[in-house]
Amino acid sequence: MKLLTSCLRAVLDFFTEILFGCSHSKLSRPFTLNDETYEVCLDCGKQIYYSAQEMRPLTPWEVRRMKVAQAGEVKVMPVKPSRPQLVPAPEHKSNIAA
Ligand SMILES: [Zn+2]
Repeated sequence: MKLLTSCLRAVLDFFTEILFGCSHSKLSRPFTLNDETYEVCLDCGKQIYYSAQEMRPLTPWEVRRMKVAQAGEVKVMPVKPSRPQLVPAPEHKSNIAA
């Protein structure tokens, strides 16, 4: 449901920008609330996340990474070979056991 909500919001934002032409050009100053730094669009109220370190708005990718990090559920899986390692030939077994 969370994903559906964010998808709907993205679609709504998309149509809002088409209908009302908001390109988020009138922004508040960046401010920090609950460890999140963002600017707010004075026209539509959209929050635009902002990097206090780099003094620029975050890209959608960076926002996503930040959200994932905050949720504590990093879903980056280590790349592993999909097939198991070759089983050692029988004559090698005695070496491994020793
Ligand atoms: Zn806006």
